[in-house]
Amino acid sequence: MYFDYAATTPVLSEIKEQAIELLNKYENPSSVHLKSKGVKSEIELTREKVAKLLNTNPKHIFFTSGATESNNTVIKGFYYKNKEVKHHYFTSSIEHPSVLEPIAYLNEHSDFSYSHIPLQNILDTNALERTVVEEKPTFCSFMMANNETGTIFPITEIASILHQNNSYFHIDATQAIGKIDVDVTKLNVDALSFSGHKIFAPKGIGILYLKDPDSIMPLFHGGGQEKGVRCGTENVFAILSLRIAIDYFLENFDKIEAHYNLCRTYFLSLLKQKNISFALNESEGLANILSIRFGMKGDAMADILNFKYGSMISVGSACSENKDVKKLSHVLKNMGLEDHEIQKTTRISFGIETTLEDIGKLVNNIEDVLSIYQ
Ligand code: PMP
Repeated sequence: MYFDYAATTPVLSEIKEQAIELLNKYENPSSVHLKSKGVKSEIELTREKVAKLLNTNPKHIFFTSGATESNNTVIKGFYYKNKEVKHHYFTSSIEHPSVLEPIAYLNEHSDFSYSHIPLQNILDTNALERTVVEEKPTFCSFMMANNETGTIFPITEIASILHQNNSYFHIDATQAIGKIDVDVTKLNVDALSFSGHKIFAPKGIGILYLKDPDSIMPLFHGGGQEKGVRCGTENVFAILSLRIAIDYFLENFDKIEAHYNLCRTYFLSLLKQKNISFALNESEGLANILSIRFGMKGDAMADILNFKYGSMISVGSACSENKDVKKLSHVLKNMGLEDHEIQKTTRISFGIETTLEDIGKLVNNIEDVLSIYQ
């Protein structure tokens, strides 16, 4: 049973059914043949769908390989586009490494400064405003929802503060897309990133929304694809698959939202019914992500559930697994949790295929593990 949808999602069955047909569209979209032009126009149909999902015009949408590339492109691309400016970048202390690391890289290699604002100052918009007025950032990047806890940032309010102070505003909406409304026109952001594999499309496809496509210097130079913003032959299979996933979300958004709410409520009510003691690290975040502590170490709980019971939960972000030195989650630390609380934390995330029956079995498994190992 899979409860790690925040790390990635299975490919939608509608995509799997059409996969061979999509893979047969092998022609290079930039070639002159009639069939190539057909592939190109299908790519444009996907661009229209993404634009519809984000409520914008397709000319603002660019395909990349994923959110990591989109984040790097906008963070480094804004700097290189405006090199003459003395930059100060500004992010939260709980961003994904694909935002924190490119900023740290620029800091190491350029005449450039940055700061991380504590989470409580972002959620308290008066405190945020005071910091912005004082620090005058040229560029700011915040996530819309956190990947470990589901914490949701007040993006519209933040955008208004930043724009009043002439800062460029990028959001990482990787975890928010498909869970909450993400309307770039209402949010009034300058740039946005997300990855298709978090919404049931295959891996290897990402989106970069740019209000002004000329606001960044591209990272890849080459054959001029994606209007020069992201050169390289398009990942046709993944782009066309993303269209199927987005269609699914556009048609079923209300149902999906209700499903996530039901999964969360049901899971928590079963824990209470069974008198299993637990604590939530975030109670108002995305419905499908639970950052939750039980009475034993989180990594032990996750390992036993994964290997003994086949219930795949996580202790935090999958990306942190690639680091040589395992550190306590910077997200939970910056949210003010004590080390012993972080060590007890697990992440359980639900998806469209999660059933109430699976949740019932998971709770039984958790009860079992606690009774034996606590
Ligand atoms: N941002 C956030 C908030 C994420 O959760 C992730 C994936 N865990 C990324 C960026 C990076 O996405 P990808 O690995 O698909 O490039």
